[in-house]
Amino acid sequence: MIDIHWWRSGYDDQVHAFREEQAGREFGEAMCEHCVPNSKITLSDQGRRCMACLLIIGDLLATAHGDTLWRAS
Ligand SMILES: [Zn+2]
Repeated sequence: MIDIHWWRSGYDDQVHAFREEQAGREFGEAMCEHCVPNSKITLSDQGRRCMACLLIIGDLLATAHGDTLWRAS
């Protein structure tokens, strides 16, 4: 199961894909390795999505087998 959240970074004002396990950490690290302190993360998926994250997620989707391995939230 891969839990991904699309959250906006205040650093580059793009929406990145963050993994569920980032919760509780001081810094968030997006799938594209963009690092941002939690205080700069907006819990919103509104905005321009990071192209690198989109490509990485696309790859995950392509290799996942349906909903058992993948759940977007
Ligand atoms: Zn990204």
